[in-house]
Amino acid sequence: MPDRKVHIVENQNYGCIQCGRCCRRFHVLMSEEDARRIARLLESRPNDLPRDFVTRIDGRPYFARKPSGGCVFLDEDTGYCRMHSLFGFSQKALSCRGYPVNIASTFPGHVSAIARQDCPAVQRNAGKTLTSQRREIEGLVEELNPRSPFNRRVLEGLTQEAIETLAQALVGVLQAPDPVSPGQRAWVFHEVVVRLEKIKGFANDLDALREMIPNLIAKAQAAVPQSPQRGLGWFGRAAFRAWLGACLRRDTERVKPTAFYRAARVWTMLAVTFGRGSFHRLGCEHPPASLARCPAFGKQAHSSDQATWESYRRWLISRLEAYQFCGVTFYDEPLFVGLRALALTYPLVLAAARHHSRSRGADGVEEPDVFYAIGAIDHTLGRSPLLQYRPWRSLEAFFFTRWTALQTSLGWE
Ligand code: SF4
Repeated sequence: MPDRKVHIVENQNYGCIQCGRCCRRFHVLMSEEDARRIARLLESRPNDLPRDFVTRIDGRPYFARKPSGGCVFLDEDTGYCRMHSLFGFSQKALSCRGYPVNIASTFPGHVSAIARQDCPAVQRNAGKTLTSQRREIEGLVEELNPRSPFNRRVLEGLTQEAIETLAQALVGVLQAPDPVSPGQRAWVFHEVVVRLEKIKGFANDLDALREMIPNLIAKAQAAVPQSPQRGLGWFGRAAFRAWLGACLRRDTERVKPTAFYRAARVWTMLAVTFGRGSFHRLGCEHPPASLARCPAFGKQAHSSDQATWESYRRWLISRLEAYQFCGVTFYDEPLFVGLRALALTYPLVLAAARHHSRSRGADGVEEPDVFYAIGAIDHTLGRSPLLQYRPWRSLEAFFFTRWTALQTSLGWE
């Protein structure tokens, strides 16, 4: 094991439930070495697995897929990987063995691991704790050998200790036992990020920072809006729908898009922006319901409680504890851009959950809606080639300064 500290988040559990979702939903890239090794393995032992298992996209090797969409090695009846059944887990490609763990470099000499929320087992926090799987995760770290620790741009002049203290303060906000609603907790989180950014020039003075933080959090908690606020205008609402559409867009479903598909996608993005069309046309995991019938804005009859949003809170804590909101996991943007983006996940998750809930005919957000929404947003956060471009960054900045108006339009939960 190289001289690297592997930090594994403590609040996540994972044990594969063999739902086969990852084998059906993703185009799985493998290394050239894995492609050659698997080909040799298939030749070496009698078996009826397909030999033609590689498809090349832009010259890179991906697992070929059946006409039904699943991986060529997926057993559709059992949802189990046939490579795994015949040759064992250790013989699978590294990308298959690694999923759903996300490993990233953080500070120099440090690596962190969290589990991705687009896996149903992770969403339900089912199985063994991630920390108890340390040996396997360290093995993955060794094979992956992640590089590129936080650079100067990401660090914004802050020391590791200062960043750790800031992240811990935000974890404290999420763990505070106050009997507030999920929306109020998200508001306080946003407000604390705003206030921490204002004092970041002093943050390397750890004693002063530690003294300031409790006061700053108390002030943010006291400032939660009590009276009705002004919501977004039509432009703001349209911009938010466009942004949500960009987050829910799954370009990877068509790795070889035709001109007709591209034109249809532009049309759908326009329709979504104006509150029409369906997110389903941007990704098959989204409900096949129209936005006109199931809008993302507006409160529903029944509010959800903290328990319904527990998975959201756990997700944010794991991202913070693993520092997977900056560096390679967030387009190498500065630290506070990543923190602002984390604060903005609440309106995105709420809007997606509302749409999902309405598509089921429910009159309030329930746990399956939150699971769906977290999985959908987590999948994109820091992974979408589209969202790293300047216009989307500008939209993030726009909504961060209008967080309360956005929340008012969405309806406080
Ligand atoms: S999505 Fe998760 S639970 Fe389902 S097969 Fe893949 S790793 Fe297992």
